[in-house]
Amino acid sequence: MINEIVVISGKGGTGKTSLTASIIPYFEDLVIADCDVDAPDLNILIKGDIVQERDFIGFQRPVIDYDKCTYCGLCQTSCNFNAISEDIIIKNATCEGCKVCEYVCPTDAITMHDTIIGKIYHRKTIFGPMIDARLIPGEESSGKLVAEVRKLARDVAYEENRNTIIIDGSPGIACNVISAITGVSKAIIVTEPTISGLHDLKKVVHLVRMFSVKAKVIINKYDLSLSKAKEIKEYLDLMGIEVILELPFDVEMVNSINNLKIPSTTDMPFFSSDEWFKFIEYLRK
Ligand code: SF4
Ligand code: SF4
Repeated sequence: MINEIVVISGKGGTGKTSLTASIIPYFEDLVIADCDVDAPDLNILIKGDIVQERDFIGFQRPVIDYDKCTYCGLCQTSCNFNAISEDIIIKNATCEGCKVCEYVCPTDAITMHDTIIGKIYHRKTIFGPMIDARLIPGEESSGKLVAEVRKLARDVAYEENRNTIIIDGSPGIACNVISAITGVSKAIIVTEPTISGLHDLKKVVHLVRMFSVKAKVIINKYDLSLSKAKEIKEYLDLMGIEVILELPFDVEMVNSINNLKIPSTTDMPFFSSDEWFKFIEYLRK
């Protein structure tokens, strides 16, 4: 069985992607999946070469043949999503692709056409294959795109006999995060000791519990507010979730990211500590 590990956070800016990148060099039989499809940036640190690239069709949208249209208005009044204007123009941003307009049109002026909502990349990196994707700005269905990235990562893992998939999830608790955590072996939630960190942590903890995902928490930069870190630990204690790591703030972490480098033992002594290796052992199990 493949060991699928997802790294998530309730909010952006907690250091989730830096930590994901720091974990990657410790696995030899790995497939990397960047499921932060709205802002994929793991590759900036991992630096993979594209070996394959393809469009991702999210769903179908209607196209009107105005030579056949009699402007009867039936499609406009039948659309529950208010996605057709009074002058019979499709508003792509609100169209849900339900096909009702195609069904009701008396002159067959409407046909449904595939819509590309993003691109998927298969890369070769020094740590193993990587699958990542980018959603076209303004498009929705990021959950579907995440599901496709995970499926491709699993296919590659089976084909190449690789036992681990490390997934960089999106921040937040939207459908793309649900898609990233569903059915994983374990989740690592990265938080920080701030008011918003705790607030968003509570939401993501609720989510992992709802989906029965085994989760542990890293408090990144815990020493920036020892009192808030204590509050986080008390909350997690109540919820029965273990804090597996407390990472101190280290300016070298920031420097590594600014220099587009994976934070490593040479930058930060913490990555040689017993706590770190205990954490890596937990991930490997
Ligand atoms: S496909 Fe559905 S949502 Fe889109 S315009 Fe037609 S009726 Fe409206
Ligand atoms: S239902 Fe068909 S014919 Fe009527 S306005 Fe819409 S596209 Fe035109």
